[in-house]
Amino acid sequence: MRNRLCKIVATVGPASSSPSMLRLIHDAGVDIFRLNMSHGAHDKLARVAEAVRDIEKETGTPLGLFADLQGPKIRTGDFAAGSIKLRYGGEYRLVFAHESADEDTIPIPHQELLDVLEPGDILKLDDGKLQLTIASRTAHHLIAKADTPGELKNRKGINVPTRALPISALTDKDRTDLEFALGLGVDYIALSFVQKPSDVEEAKALIRGRAGIISKIEKPTAVEFLDEIIEQSDAIMVARGDLGVECAPEDVPLMQRRIINTCRRAGKPVIVATHMLESMVESIAPTRAEASDVSTAVYQGADAVMLSAETAVGRHPPTAVAIMDRIITATERDEDSGGFKIDRGEDPTYTTADAITLSARRIAEVLDCKFAVAYTKTGSTARRLSRDRPHSPVIAATPDESVARQLALYWGVWPVVTEDISHFHEMIEKADTLAKTHGGKDGERIIILAGYPFGRRGKTNTLKISRIGGFEN
Ligand code: PGA
Ligand code: MN
Repeated sequence: MRNRLCKIVATVGPASSSPSMLRLIHDAGVDIFRLNMSHGAHDKLARVAEAVRDIEKETGTPLGLFADLQGPKIRTGDFAAGSIKLRYGGEYRLVFAHESADEDTIPIPHQELLDVLEPGDILKLDDGKLQLTIASRTAHHLIAKADTPGELKNRKGINVPTRALPISALTDKDRTDLEFALGLGVDYIALSFVQKPSDVEEAKALIRGRAGIISKIEKPTAVEFLDEIIEQSDAIMVARGDLGVECAPEDVPLMQRRIINTCRRAGKPVIVATHMLESMVESIAPTRAEASDVSTAVYQGADAVMLSAETAVGRHPPTAVAIMDRIITATERDEDSGGFKIDRGEDPTYTTADAITLSARRIAEVLDCKFAVAYTKTGSTARRLSRDRPHSPVIAATPDESVARQLALYWGVWPVVTEDISHFHEMIEKADTLAKTHGGKDGERIIILAGYPFGRRGKTNTLKISRIGGFEN
């Protein structure tokens, strides 16, 4: 039984892809599973998706599943010896090639990148561990100087913080992976290296409503168009791995805070990702700074926090999840947690549904309600409630399985798939049962939200305060 409002996303990889390990990390607290399309063959990913749906059936809990597209990640080619040694201040030729046998030549299989680079541009390699500065350009190649010594291995990522690159957010590989992932029935598609709102629109035209879109903010240019990108997307990821390579380290915490605040105002879920418990790839316990990082994301109001290498290739996937669960739970015990802060934006126009969810928040607080039970066909009541950050968890009862799975990402929402109600007494009885199966005790108060007449889409207009076990108010 979950007892927490902020959600946990775990990346699946070789360390966690067996059905038994997936079950272990689920039981430790994973709400949403992430398939990384940069790694892993299609048949393996299909088996993971199947295993996640099996866990869903066994436990009766809707789980989120998303495919993270690689996007236009630029990489070096291959070296004959598997790597070269960069000498500090040494000069290297950058050439358009897939491989090189020469120790002073770095193959780059991306002509579009070589075309735009100019002297002074900076290339960060291997997640920023190595750096080159372009020194000069001739008709045939570029000369770059190494700013850091170190080993440059095959196919390492290249970030160019000094340039907005003239590339689309979807490569041919992404398009193939996208169709494959939609075939697996994923609930969201995550887009990497989004630079502008039209990148999201392009993906939307291909996805055609078959999954939600998570835009990853990992380029400085995306931060410039933040409002429009959030508007176009269903959810946002603060992708600190690449963002931290593209930007100065001192800028990343401020960007994280600004992205979370903007998402909260827009009512869109936001995931804080990468390096959260990084030392747990090896170690059995996190550093104090890592524990503080997870807690900070919860305080700032993130809907979800994410594990990457910790669960994908780490030595202790279930422990990493369990520790994340404990840090979130402890932080949420603080009534002043910013996670409960409400932000409705500058000039909200209140619909009936808005007024009801806002009131539900207040009622939950003053009457100390155990749950808010929302009957929701499209999920919109639960999404609104989540935006208003009530102190009591929201049990979202929906007949639509894919709505329930998408809701797994939302702060404070515990989705359940169940048939529609058709009578007032059924509304109360079913809420009573749902509250009990989620740990509610006789006599505890709950709030019930629904749209009357029942069974139609949208239009939440009914709020009932009730006690578990049929006790009088
Ligand atoms: P990645 O994205 O793990 O796919 O690179 C997350 C990040 O950059 O933080
Ligand atoms: Mn990334």
